[in-house]
Amino acid sequence: MKCPSCGCAGMIDKVAEETLSYGGKSMTLHAMHGQFCSHCSEGIWDEESYRRYTEAQEGLVRAVKGDPGADIRRIRKKLNITQAKLALAFGVGKVAFSRYERGETRPPAPLVKLLKLIDRHPDLLDEMQKM
Ligand SMILES: [Zn+2]
Repeated sequence: MKCPSCGCAGMIDKVAEETLSYGGKSMTLHAMHGQFCSHCSEGIWDEESYRRYTEAQEGLVRAVKGDPGADIRRIRKKLNITQAKLALAFGVGKVAFSRYERGETRPPAPLVKLLKLIDRHPDLLDEMQKM
């Protein structure tokens, strides 16, 4: 295989450590396999290592930013209410909570704050449902 960067034929198999950093957190992946150029040090991970790399990166971003979808699901389960009923109480579309919980749509920050408030004071939900 030729190097995708400099075109030389000196690609060698290598096992390496790769450190990812994001938002002040970092994480090191061990035993990452790839092909690296002996000339310009350009490298490509093999499929398995690349998958680990992207997963670790997503995990790191989630750890820094938090995972509002998981928070929402946890609170909703605790309140023992369906996605549709909660949507009605919040005055959002019927499928909104399904999208938030699956991480398809990032929930608006005020909605997350309000839900966290309800998490601490569950009786607010009754009041909200009457509004
Ligand atoms: Zn090269």
